[in-house]
Amino acid sequence: SLTAGIVGLPNVGKSTLFNAITKAGAEAANYPFATIDPNVGMVEVPDYRLEELTKLVKPKKTVPATFEFTDIAGIVRGASKGEGLGNKFLSHIRQVDAICHVVRCFDDDNITHVEGRVDPLADIDTINLELVLADLESVDKRLARVSKIAKTKDKEAVAELAVLEKIKPVLEEGKSARSIEFTDDELPIVKGLFLLTTKPVLYVANVAEDEIADVENNNYVKQVKEFAATENAEVITVCARAEEEIAELDEDDKKDFLEALGIEESGLDKLIRTAYHLLGLATYFTAGEQEVRAWTFKVGMKAPECAGIIHTDFERGFIRAETVSFIDLKEYGSMSAAKDAGRVRLEGKDYVVQDGDVMLFRFNV
Ligand code: GDP
Repeated sequence: SLTAGIVGLPNVGKSTLFNAITKAGAEAANYPFATIDPNVGMVEVPDYRLEELTKLVKPKKTVPATFEFTDIAGIVRGASKGEGLGNKFLSHIRQVDAICHVVRCFDDDNITHVEGRVDPLADIDTINLELVLADLESVDKRLARVSKIAKTKDKEAVAELAVLEKIKPVLEEGKSARSIEFTDDELPIVKGLFLLTTKPVLYVANVAEDEIADVENNNYVKQVKEFAATENAEVITVCARAEEEIAELDEDDKKDFLEALGIEESGLDKLIRTAYHLLGLATYFTAGEQEVRAWTFKVGMKAPECAGIIHTDFERGFIRAETVSFIDLKEYGSMSAAKDAGRVRLEGKDYVVQDGDVMLFRFNV
């Protein structure tokens, strides 16, 4: 499954945030086949629709979708030079599908900053530069090979060469490749390069507890937002320290705590939701008397592939899917009422599943 890696300089609040993730963790009983890796935290994806469906259908059990975060510790200046820990750090980043980059946006004299000052932009730069340098090395290696083949007028090589030559000068300026606008033709080539700085990134601005309700006036956050806009990245604000506490509360206490902080949604919920979308993920539901469940799929997947997420037999023997949107099901109150109103569709193998679809798969065994 897809995972988002948490990175950041030392002492910015990564472990605190990761602790919040593992404390909030998904109910293990629901996911018996989940892997156990201390660096991976699995959380449930918050979704009000799942609660509503549970109220409508009253199943024996409700199972939310899950999302995985990987804790990637150990970034150091000079990582791209391939020294020990640094090398390991880069190979871990290579394996994740998106990057959550935690940046310190809180002042606290008691907590040492590795570089002796709070400066989120310089921090971002320090890490991004290591990734940029690693990419530059990959691009140079690739250029050496591809430029030879391109001389033979090989079409693919010529196209790749053009892409590499578009990327290289940007990296040389110290900028991430994600800041480049690629054409639809170029995108698959870019994907095949497996660069680090094209991975989607989410900057997580870690602010002080007493500033979380008023982040608009936080200058550090403002700077991070301005920077993120230049490279098509997203920003969310959290207070990691508060999240660690929130993660241990039940729903009612959580609401009270959030109210006291002056925010509507916990930073962790925001993080999960944003990372989920960043990866192009969406949710469909199955809603039976036994179980109401949310399933994660990639936007653009067709019905048989989505059925295959539940079981490979569902994909192999796929016939059709009885489909109703969550909104319609909620409006009509039950599957049969939605059917009577003509809101339940019979979708075939070419149907592109939509976020919020409630589906019943028909298949041959
Ligand atoms: P890491 O090295 O990036 O994993 O950072 P840690 O999570 O270990 O945090 C470093 C220190 O900063 C710890 O003492 C945390 O309690 C503290 N810290 C983390 N988040 C916050 C925050 O939002 N506000 C304040 N004041 N301190 C924080």
